[in-house]
Order: sequence, then C-alpha cells, then structure tokens
Amino acid sequence: MEFQLNNTFTDELPADANTSNDRRQVTEACYSFVLPTKTKAPKLIHVADAMVNVLGISKEESESEEFLNIFTGNEIIPNSKPYAMCYGGHQFGHWAGQLGDGRAINLGEIEHNNKRWALQLKGVGATPYSRTADGLAVLRSSVREYLCSEAMYYLGVPTTRALSLALTGDKVMRDVLYDGNPAYEKGAIVCRVAPTFLRFGSYEIFASRGDTKNLKVLVDYTIKHLYSEVEQGTKEGYVEFFRAVSHKTLDMIINWQRVGFVHGVMNTDNMSILGLTIDYGPYGWLEGYDKKWTPNTTDAEHKRYQYGQQSNIALWNLLKLANALYPLIEDAEPLEAILNEYKTLYAEKYIGMMKAKLGLLKDDENDKQLIKLLEDNLKLTETDMTIFFRNLSKLPKDMVLPEKEGSDFLDVVKDAFYKPEELKSETLWFWKDWFALYLNRLQKEELSDAERKEQMDKVNPKYVLRNYMSQIAIDASDKGDYSIVNELYMILKKPYNEQPESEKWFVKRPEWARTKVGCSMLSCSS
Ligand code: AMP
Ligand code: MG
Repeated sequence: MEFQLNNTFTDELPADANTSNDRRQVTEACYSFVLPTKTKAPKLIHVADAMVNVLGISKEESESEEFLNIFTGNEIIPNSKPYAMCYGGHQFGHWAGQLGDGRAINLGEIEHNNKRWALQLKGVGATPYSRTADGLAVLRSSVREYLCSEAMYYLGVPTTRALSLALTGDKVMRDVLYDGNPAYEKGAIVCRVAPTFLRFGSYEIFASRGDTKNLKVLVDYTIKHLYSEVEQGTKEGYVEFFRAVSHKTLDMIINWQRVGFVHGVMNTDNMSILGLTIDYGPYGWLEGYDKKWTPNTTDAEHKRYQYGQQSNIALWNLLKLANALYPLIEDAEPLEAILNEYKTLYAEKYIGMMKAKLGLLKDDENDKQLIKLLEDNLKLTETDMTIFFRNLSKLPKDMVLPEKEGSDFLDVVKDAFYKPEELKSETLWFWKDWFALYLNRLQKEELSDAERKEQMDKVNPKYVLRNYMSQIAIDASDKGDYSIVNELYMILKKPYNEQPESEKWFVKRPEWARTKVGCSMLSCSS
C-alpha cells in the first residue's frame, strides 16, 4: 500500500527529546515519538468503506494483510514516525495538568484529493501519557466510538471519523461498574481520522507552564494549516482565530442539540480545535426528552454535562481556551467580546434550529414561546425526542382539533410516548393547546404539507445510534457475530431516509434497556 504522507505535525512542531516510553511530564514539546504495542492476534471487525475512499485506499488494499497490520499497530507505514500528542485539560471544572494521548498513537498524515487527514490508532498500548492506565481499549467502547463517529458524520454533525474497528486478540481488565469487580474483556482498536486531533487542552498545557514560545509555535501552525483564512502571526490574527474556533464550536453544539446528542465528558481535553465531536466515551442520545439528562454515571450527581447545559459548558471551555491564548494577545477585551457574541449567536441559532425542526421558515414574534411551550410539553410525560420530531412532519396543517376529550389529535406522534396512559387531563390539555398554536402558526407558512415534511425530514433524523442499539451490536460482537455492527453502520449512513426494512430500529428504547448497563447510563470505563 502506498500512502501520500505529509507529516506537517511532526515536521513543524517541537518533539519530546526523550524517545523512551516511560510515563513522564513532557515539556516544551507537542508530542513524543512512540511505537504501538504489537497485538497478539489482530482481526478486523469492520472497515468503513466511505473512509477507505476518502483516504484513497482501494477495496483490495483494505482487505489485505498489510491493511490489517497497519491499522492494528503491528506494522508501521513506511516513512512515518508514530507519536502521541501532549495536552492538558480541565476535567469536570478543574485543571488536571498534563493528560495527553494515553492510549492513542498517531500514524501520520495522509494527503488525498488535496485534503490532509491525521490517522490515529486508539487502544494500541501505553505512551508517555498513560499515567496509571494501560493504554488499551475494550471492544464495547470501540464499537461505540466506531459506529457513532460515522453516524454523526452522516447526520451532518461535525465529527472525527473512523476508518476501521479491529480486535487485538488480547484481554483487557476493566471494572465496568467501578464496584470492585474487574473482569477481562476483549481488547480492540479503532483507527480514527480527522484533519487534526488538536484540542483546547493542547494549547492550555503550554499556557499553564508559562511556555509562550511553544504556545505561539502551535497556534501559528494551527492557523497556517487549519485556519488558513486567518492572518498569520499577528495579535489581530490570534483574535480572529479564537473567533473562528468559537463559531465552529457553536455550530457543533447546535447540531448536538438538534439530534439530541449528549457528549457526556465535555472536558477541555475533549474539545477539538476544529469544533469536531471528539472522544466518544459515555455519550448518549436523548430518548425521553429531558434537558437534565446525562448518560455519564460519573457525572450523575452534578450533571455538569447534561444535554441542556452543553452550550454553556462549551462557552466555559472557550473561556479556558481564551485564557490560554491570552499571552499571545495581551488584551482581554476582544476575547470577552467574542465570548459575549457566542451567547447571542447561540440564542439566535438555537431558535433557528428548532424552527427548522418544526418546519417553520418565516419569522413570527411568538416562535420563541412556541418552542418553549413545546419543550415544556415534551417533559410532561416521557416523550421520545427522535420519534416525536420525525413523526410531527406528518401532521396535516388543516387538521381540526376536536372539541371534546380524547387524544386522537396526537395520533401522528403517539409512538413517541413511553406512557401513553398518562396522556389525560392536564397533560392532554397542554398538548391540545400546543397543537392549536402550532397548527395556527403553520397557516402562516406557504409550504404544502408534503413540502414541509420534506424540509423537516432533512433535519429530524429517523435513525440515531441509541445506546441500546450499540449494546445489541456489542453483545453480538463479543460472541463473534459482527453482522449487527454492519447493519447499524449501513442504516446510519442514511439517517434521514425512510428505510422500510429497518423500521425495527425506529422504535423507542425497549423497557429491558432502561436499566441494563450500557443501554441507558454508562461509566467512563472503556
Ligand atoms: P477521556 O476521559 O477518555 O477523554 O481520557 C482522559 C485522559 O485519560 C486522556 O489523556 C486519555 O488518553 C487517558 N486515558 C483514558 N483511558 C486510558 C487508558 N486505558 N490508558 C491510558 N490512558 C487513558
Ligand atoms: Mg479524551
């Protein structure tokens, strides 16, 4: 296999002079050279055909022994020097010091069709940044990261991508419930792909050490290769860079809110400098619409990273990035202005996004209220976000609401209710009021029912990767049956399309999944 390598990261940025694999603090460097640990019996579970194409790899090549060996870390791409990146981060609101790629090793950058892609293997053994952990990843978290990165891409959400999912043949010890009962699980490796894996924490680490020289080198590199529209090497340019990062971050969050995605661990080391969704851990999708929901058991008490807080947390994280960039700008005012602008922009874009979900194109001064009332109603009784919005597009705008009691008017969205028996008295009245407002509001629009449905179905996905779906794929994979991984991969490539043969995945979370580990809440253990 031949790759067009262009390793700008290692060519242009300072390396750690120490090339041993001892765990250590690494200063004045963006990365350390390190080799993947060889695996015992690597075996490919799935290869993302779309990514294979993007990287210019042929189908035959992707089926070769060489591909298997390279993407499980057993063979190194000629002329590449694998490395782990150094970064720090604020975890759950506190500065955590140096973190870095503790279990990810970058293979290099491939250029194809004028695009540059960094390739990274996750779960290929310890690096200088592994701290007390083993550098490995288990099958369950790898299936989740692999499927979700691609699913998010097809949903139109900015994200890192995935090329391949493989078993290592090695066993990995994990205590899934953190209850003192560790057990062996199958080890796995995902090859992740992105224009860059730089995170907010990559900049914070230099600022925290007062290393303005290397901070500047890294920011200049980032602007040169990833924000080429921004002026290089000036204070104004650095401010513009921050503004651009802020806009990209905002766009990512709006998209998360649109599809009901909850990241679960929005620490600054998990915030991509390109506003890509990165580091899929204990993430989840809103099933019952609940702004306070988080899938992460580690965050169950404070719910710092709950769905409804993601925008504020992104802003908090941007503030930390602003602090890190400050030494290059030495003027807080323009940075503060950008953070304030984020708040205004978010409020505007959120309304715009929700209006699109409701099929509303025109402006109406009551739209904000209409959205607020809908959000309140979605919480009255457990209501599935994805099914509700997807099916709402079938509402005829000339539907007449009944005078008397009865819930027939909710028929188009009835599949979204987990407890339809609760649709009575007050709850029913609230819904009737909302439908009256919405139907009235639809009269203002010029689209026909069919046109509105078409518009709405482009932003309200039919298929998302619910945790229980991943868990079914994981349980099967654990037994050596990878067909469900492939089935979900294929369905999630067209999340906005009707796929009649896959209706079984367009259902509410089944009751058995409500409490099953991995299906509702997840720990960080991975
Ligand atoms: P995360 O919460 O997954 O974003 O990880 C936070 C930090 O812990 C990062 O620096 C990871 O590289 C590191 N980390 C997580 N799991 C492991 C592991 N099994 N081995 C080594 N480092 C890890
Ligand atoms: Mg991380």
